[in-house]
Amino acid sequence: MPELVDGLDSKSSAFGFVGSSPTAPITSVMNTYTRFPLQVSKGKGAWIRDCDGNQYLDAVAGIATCTLGHSDPVMDWALDQQLRKLQHISNLYQIPEQEALAAWITTHSCFDKVFFCNSGAEANEAAIKLARKYGHQVRGIERPIILTAEASFHGRTLATISATGQPKYHKGFEPMVRGFRFFTYNDISSFDRLLEATEIEGPRVAAVLLEPLQGEGGVNPGNIDFFNHVRKCCDMKKILLIFDEVQTGVGRTGELWGYNKLGIEPDAFTLAKGLGGGIPIGALAVKEKYDLLCPGDHASTFGGNPFACRAGLTVMKEVERRGLTYHARCMGELLQELLKQLVTRYPDHLRDVRGWGLLQGLVLNNPSLTAPSLVKQAITERLLIVPAGPEVVRFLPPLTIKPKELHTAVNRLEKALLSIIS
Ligand SMILES: *Cc1c(COP(=O)(O)O)cnc(C)c1O
Repeated sequence: MPELVDGLDSKSSAFGFVGSSPTAPITSVMNTYTRFPLQVSKGKGAWIRDCDGNQYLDAVAGIATCTLGHSDPVMDWALDQQLRKLQHISNLYQIPEQEALAAWITTHSCFDKVFFCNSGAEANEAAIKLARKYGHQVRGIERPIILTAEASFHGRTLATISATGQPKYHKGFEPMVRGFRFFTYNDISSFDRLLEATEIEGPRVAAVLLEPLQGEGGVNPGNIDFFNHVRKCCDMKKILLIFDEVQTGVGRTGELWGYNKLGIEPDAFTLAKGLGGGIPIGALAVKEKYDLLCPGDHASTFGGNPFACRAGLTVMKEVERRGLTYHARCMGELLQELLKQLVTRYPDHLRDVRGWGLLQGLVLNNPSLTAPSLVKQAITERLLIVPAGPEVVRFLPPLTIKPKELHTAVNRLEKALLSIIS
């Protein structure tokens, strides 16, 4: 465990609470999050420290964003350099860092062109606009429809909650953006039925939007047969197949991109979370023939700015240089094995382990044990994990995590589990 030292006096917190104190802070921030009473003052690798000096193992990593862990020296150096050189310049001008990151992504994927924005939802917004333009311009569809999956998650803007197949995200914000229909994930007949029903009066499906593995929806890995079927249907009917790889991209699954796990290529994909290593960035990448957005169609003031793109480029180059995709695959196997041993030991409370690489979900036997209660208890054992729905706890550690740290994580999880069930 590295010693984390910083200049913040633990008792001089400016935020009205310190360390793991359970009192809620006086806050001027809107009440959109249920926050744990933990204030993090410093991070290093897979470890973070609270204001009282307690050290926690971070298996959340900013929800799959801190790809290289906290305060990675190469990342620190690159960002420091970039801050001193140029932080922001408008897309009115040429941005070499943006060109370089786009070139990296296109030479290491099946795509040819990239658009940059600042988040996952924005990347999906761009994908949805592209799908509609494709529908109108290429397919001649008057009111293009996009098919997405139940239990999916695509973001929190109006169009992306509309694309999200979970009613709880719609509630209170109706009317939804029109033009989305839902099928059951990994279910060929559900997909076929929806496609047929939607096109009963003629072709009007412009795109299918899918996560290769559903993250927020409960860590559900995509099924190869299902995805191959969808790919074939899309080819036959000239429907755009778009992958939301906001969570699965950038080595997370043990492959560089989630689509590598499924043996097919989508026509476009979106990235965000892991791409910036903690710096906000999002991207839509497309194959040449779907490069349909023209000047004036879409834009973002901050999208692809020099600082964010330098972050993205640094993450990608380090993932490659250190072999972190392969490392994530090996560490994922170890993590899955350790979690499976837990399931064997506590069959009354744990049901299953599923996931790819360092995106693993431990499925609980709801309702005897809920994901939020286990996550909360884990914090007292100084382990950070995150729920994926009510009955799954999710592990998304930095791709740099070491075997010993995974053992520590699972030991701490077991302690948390024991203190709930005993
Ligand atoms: C997190 C996530 C999003 C939303 O990303 P934001 O950056 O929060 O807008 C979209 N899709 C998937 C699959 C995600 O995991």
